Amino acid sequence: MRKQIAAANWKMNNTLEEGTKLLNEIVGSGLQLSDNQCAIFAVPSPYLISADQQVAGNSNMFVAAQNCHHKTSGAYTGEVSVDMLASINIHYCLVGHSERREYFAESNQQLAEKVDLCLSKEITPIFCCGEPLSIRDENIQNDYVAVQLNESLFHLDADAIQKVVIAYEPIWAIGTGKTATAAQAQEMHAHIRSVLANQFGNAVADNVSILYGGSVKGANANEIFSQPDVDGGLVGGASLIASEFVQIIKALK
Ligand code: PEP
Repeated sequence: MRKQIAAANWKMNNTLEEGTKLLNEIVGSGLQLSDNQCAIFAVPSPYLISADQQVAGNSNMFVAAQNCHHKTSGAYTGEVSVDMLASINIHYCLVGHSERREYFAESNQQLAEKVDLCLSKEITPIFCCGEPLSIRDENIQNDYVAVQLNESLFHLDADAIQKVVIAYEPIWAIGTGKTATAAQAQEMHAHIRSVLANQFGNAVADNVSILYGGSVKGANANEIFSQPDVDGGLVGGASLIASEFVQIIKALK
């Protein structure tokens, strides 16, 4: 049975003091997560160790890195490797967020390397895909997303793909307050699942968690998460407010 996941992406926000307080409020809010649910916090790199200590002891709460480098080690000043993440007990990492693709020119091929490195260290990649507005306007978003999946994930075998979480994040909905409708989200998630099924078979596709991201908040999480192919969300802005993110976690199926 695939996991239902609420993943917070703090991006480049929060001082250590602010982040510690935010996480304490969420962890201390008395949430009861069932076995098929989890909450993941993608915090800035300097806080990975302390955030991991904060969630320790809460089953089904985990910390994620927001990025990793596509090489194992070497002269890449300022970068973080998967070996480093594994060495501090981090088991999730965002890969290919649209901001990384846009501002750091990350290609589908580089993202494939990141996915491989993560899996080699038992780090679950949360692989982000999604189309810009110009592509949606032309109504070719299905093909666009299929190419992203194909070029970054389809070299994996059936066992490995089930260790990946996919986050569909239409770029026009990220940080804009403009959420995809529940029907638009479901349509794309069903498309992603059918593309996975064509490549890996139905049983495998059924096992992959597909999150929606793009202006999810407490008020719309229930409707979006209740769609059959939506397995939770990747949340930016609303994950910075404890009460909002708690409401989002509570909306998980
Ligand atoms: C994101 O950055 O992954 C995201 C979905 O942001 P927001 O929730 O703010 O749209």
